[in-house]
Amino acid sequence: KEVIRLKEIVKNYKVGTQIVRALRSVNLVIHEGEYVAIMGASGSGKSTMMNVIGCLDTPTAGNYVLNGKDVSDLSDDELAEIRNSEIGFIFQTFNLMPRNTALENVMLPLVYAGVRKQERVERAEKILVNVGLEERMEHKPNELSGGQRQRVAVARALVNRPAILLADEPTGNLDSTTSEEIMQLFSEIHKQGNTLVVVTHEEDIARHAHRIIRLKDGQVESDIVNPNPVY
Ligand code: ADP
Repeated sequence: KEVIRLKEIVKNYKVGTQIVRALRSVNLVIHEGEYVAIMGASGSGKSTMMNVIGCLDTPTAGNYVLNGKDVSDLSDDELAEIRNSEIGFIFQTFNLMPRNTALENVMLPLVYAGVRKQERVERAEKILVNVGLEERMEHKPNELSGGQRQRVAVARALVNRPAILLADEPTGNLDSTTSEEIMQLFSEIHKQGNTLVVVTHEEDIARHAHRIIRLKDGQVESDIVNPNPVY
């Protein structure tokens, strides 16, 4: 099953009278259950691609079909709706609510989705156990380590059962040991059947993925199966 289809995607930015061509006719299909890393040098178009895939921005031209629905020309409100239901975001900076507990942070997407209280608690608890935070549910972000904070963010991203998990430099704020632990968690999440897209400039992170796409000057330079993904 196709989860992502990018067809001749172009993204231009206007800067004064100049046009920056950030994505130049990108074609790409990602199937359900794939674990993909998107790599490339600074300026190659990774963030732009992440913004398009994450429905944070619309392409200048081309078509983006996400989970069977063409989302190329939606309004901001419609895009926000799609983001909330189809995409689990994971950021370098975790982006947790500082005053809320781990459990409350993970329940939040379910509040927006209109899930009733008891089910919210049950699902959030279950997924926190899943990411190894059984003992930390009542802790607030500042009472957690960096790795634990990112685990909360992973749980929050997963709780809505999104079509894709989209991570942007997920280990950028973590030391190497903790990064490795988070990448192991990603591997487990992949094994459970989830579709993962990780945007990173770090080879050490990308080598966990099963498919590696490299961007150069806004185009796909290479797209290979990783023969030896790290678990
Ligand atoms: P990466 O994430 O790989 O560093 P980006 O997608 O951020 O690459 O950038 C791709 C190109 O688009 C670069 O030349 C960058 O300067 C340009 N760019 C990115 N965002 C904007 C923006 N908001 N306005 C104008 N140009 C942009």
